[in-house]
Amino acid sequence: MSIENAGVFPKIIAHAKEYGFVFPSSEIYDGLQAVYDYGQNGVELKNNLKQLWWKTMTQIHENIVGIDAAIFMHPSTWVASGHVASFNDPMIDNKDSKKRYRVDHLIEGYADQLAAEGKADKAQAVLDEMNRLLAAEDFAGLHRFITDEGIKCPISGTANWTEVRQFNLMFSTQIGSVADEANTIYLRPETAQGIFVNFLNVQKTGRMKIPFGIAQIGKAFRNEIVARQFIFRMREFEQMEMQFFVRPGTEMEWYNFWKEMRMKWHKALGIPESKLKYHDHEKLAHYANAALDIEFQFPFGFKEIEGIHSRTDFDLRNHQELSKKKQQYFDNEINQNYIPYVVETSVGADRIFLMHLCNAYTEEVTGEGENRKERTFLKLHPAIAPVKAAIFPLTKKDGLPEKAEQIYKALKTDFRVVYEEKDSIGKRYTRQDLIGTPFCIAVDHQTLEDDTVTIRDRDTAAQRRVPIAALRDEIGHAVSFARVFEKL
Ligand code: ATP
Repeated sequence: MSIENAGVFPKIIAHAKEYGFVFPSSEIYDGLQAVYDYGQNGVELKNNLKQLWWKTMTQIHENIVGIDAAIFMHPSTWVASGHVASFNDPMIDNKDSKKRYRVDHLIEGYADQLAAEGKADKAQAVLDEMNRLLAAEDFAGLHRFITDEGIKCPISGTANWTEVRQFNLMFSTQIGSVADEANTIYLRPETAQGIFVNFLNVQKTGRMKIPFGIAQIGKAFRNEIVARQFIFRMREFEQMEMQFFVRPGTEMEWYNFWKEMRMKWHKALGIPESKLKYHDHEKLAHYANAALDIEFQFPFGFKEIEGIHSRTDFDLRNHQELSKKKQQYFDNEINQNYIPYVVETSVGADRIFLMHLCNAYTEEVTGEGENRKERTFLKLHPAIAPVKAAIFPLTKKDGLPEKAEQIYKALKTDFRVVYEEKDSIGKRYTRQDLIGTPFCIAVDHQTLEDDTVTIRDRDTAAQRRVPIAALRDEIGHAVSFARVFEKL
């Protein structure tokens, strides 16, 4: 990670707030740690990403349907899923700074530091040993390893550590009026279980044939200990998950299919290949027989944006055992009843929002001397940009505002467009650049004569003259989801 790269992240966070993308939650009370609100532009960007994902899943794949399950679920759900017993992260506290760390994050940070010092072999050995100890759930061993390696707290600079302890990440609350143990329920830590418990409802009512998928977008909650990196890791966030039910034995084929497909999706939205990579899991979660992450190069390094997991029949089998309701499918092609295997794609709406913000943030310098110009703009893919076009009359007189308003009214039924007449045209261009509006349309005196306007491209700042009658097609082509889908 270069210094310039790391240094840009605070600018991106400031930009997100300044231009109505992301605000700290309840900011007037100094905010709530790891909780954020989306502003007027942020919500549009996020909704566009969610819609694109939703349509890709449920419209482009004819064998995937969507659901919207409740956040609250029967408490047994989380026993069956394994979250009550093992949704724990091993944590360690530094006694001097009183800071709590996830053990894997602390050790990974140390390994990164070794790698940066050119000790790649040692860094790998550290990660291997960490993975071995984590897989064995050897907490005393992890504590010894941290102490023996002399890993220090980045805040206090000391190696004065507590024991390693487990910490359950689920939020709980009470349902009903009596606050006893039996009424404890959880805020779901993942959306997937809402899909599993509805597997048979959807399969039967939709007459779905395996292989088929169920997709869902919704809030998930995790009491993350280490709230870091803005909206990268939040306590309340949104997941977009799809469970693909397959015949046992075919899961690796589908795992590879979804691995490719999801990578293509991120690229189709303009994320460069060089900033994306796969990361195979070495330590598999309790439910998986294969798992990988798709990682994006954030300013703070390559980090997970999406997980692809082959979950076997773990979830459905456990739900069957605990609920005593059969979770089986009759496959008439092979004349057999079985519990399907599942391949899951799980992506965070907020994580990919942050990815697109980081990827789009551009500081540009053009010209030299007197002609030197600095410009900051968001190079968002037009399909996800919050505003698709802005319409400006060049001046506030001679009938230009009326003409521009006509264009605005004609376009607003198809696209999210804005009309602006305040300030110089240069300032208006700048305001749109800062929120990533792909097109600015200016109405000038020539417009009154020949019904043409200038259209300015955000990325090149170049202007072209086009007939008003061509605007709908021009904008429609650039922002259409179809162009993203064609690349899949
Ligand atoms: P991490 O290792 O980063 O904690 P995870 O492996 O626990 O993530 P999954 O359980 O696989 O994550 O969740 C799937 C996706 O949900 C992640 O790829 C990420 O995009 C998103 N996600 C998970 N936790 C958070 C969070 N606390 N804040 C925002 N997004 C999250």
